[in-house]
Amino acid sequence: DSADVVIIGAGPAGLVLGNLLLRRGIDCVVLERAGRDGLQKRARAGFLAANTVRILARGGLDGGLRRRGQEHSVCEFRTEEGRFRLDYRHLGRGEPHTVYPQHELVSDLQEQFLDAGGTILFDTEAVSVADADGPTPSVTVRDGDGRPVRWRARYVAACDGRHGAGRRSLPPGAVHRHHRDHGVTWLGLLAEAPPSLDAVGYAIHPSGFAGHMARSAEITRYYLQCERGTRPDAWHEERIWDELALRMRAAEYGPLRRGPFVQRTVVDLESDVLEPLRHGSLFLVGDAAGLISPSAAKGANLAVLEAEILAHALTDALVHGDPEPLDRYSERCLVHIWRAQEFSHWMVRLLHDASDSEGASLFQERLRHSRIASLRTSPTQQDWFAENYVGI
Ligand code: FAD
Repeated sequence: DSADVVIIGAGPAGLVLGNLLLRRGIDCVVLERAGRDGLQKRARAGFLAANTVRILARGGLDGGLRRRGQEHSVCEFRTEEGRFRLDYRHLGRGEPHTVYPQHELVSDLQEQFLDAGGTILFDTEAVSVADADGPTPSVTVRDGDGRPVRWRARYVAACDGRHGAGRRSLPPGAVHRHHRDHGVTWLGLLAEAPPSLDAVGYAIHPSGFAGHMARSAEITRYYLQCERGTRPDAWHEERIWDELALRMRAAEYGPLRRGPFVQRTVVDLESDVLEPLRHGSLFLVGDAAGLISPSAAKGANLAVLEAEILAHALTDALVHGDPEPLDRYSERCLVHIWRAQEFSHWMVRLLHDASDSEGASLFQERLRHSRIASLRTSPTQQDWFAENYVGI
């Protein structure tokens, strides 16, 4: 079997890339390890940056989010010194987020790709990419029955996340991996409960960080900082709600609206970036290219941006015979990736007791207090925050 572009992974990166290539008449196929139903239920991101919405609109991929996405533009910080709000729609570049659950976006993108005549092979796991340093790379997959099948391509886009076949197939020394473990762990929770406040809530408390993010009128995401190594089911529901109420200072600022937790994930806050994002004819996109801590909600947004950059570059190469944009793919993406990493790193240090994340140090802790104070009081700092918080 063969296609001009073989895309591994049907997440936001793979499906945006696939849709954009298909629209330009480029022969491509998407290989996806999961089954179709499983993919449509995987709740993860929810906050889309204004630029992500523009990319999806340019590609005609924004139907669902225009109908069901909700504009969001206020965040509230609750700290030892009281609470304050930032209406970032009126700060920085004046842009809001659009709240639209990632699994709904993935469903929309899948449907559009299939309706346009695209092929997604579900239950098909890529095992390895071979001959990426030559003109005819190939991807070996295991189909639904476990049989090996080889796909030949001109280009391979690894959109298969951090543990995917794309990264695994890079020969030693082909790319450099920058890695940072922020030393912080979050318990990510989806509650079948309406939002408890009309803002994104960031609570900084001596017991640890707690976060609140609306997903819809019925579903709310919460985060609770926990010990490294905590199992997702280690805390019973009552204990989680009590801890969220304590850290979010519900007694002072209003009760939380409780409901059953329908999903629990443990996330170690880590960042890594590969450089360059290309090895011959193999390109790394989205989480395969770099992993970012969820503290600033950038991962899915970077994935969509990189997919658009690669789609243009592949079109130039395959339709116009100009390979030069492909040579610049890595460099162009890395500018955005490092900027997002810098802001996420700043957020990690803003939201966590420094003694947990960077070694017990009163000095670091005082810096964190000062950082919060600047954000609360300095209009210039607030503009900087808004630009980076929504920007990509
Ligand atoms: P993925 O979405 O991981 O898709 C990769 C696909 O490849 C998957 O479908 C997988 O099944 C498939 N695959 C893997 N290996 C193989 C293989 N060998 N063969 C075939 N297929 C394979 N980001 C934000 O921007 N905003 C947020 O609010 C946000 N919140 C988050 C909350 C949580 C709890 C988590 C975990 C992440 C969050 N993120 C957020 C990050 C975001 O979800 C990811 O960055 C995003 O999913 C990356 O998209 P992707 O397409 O690169 O990878």
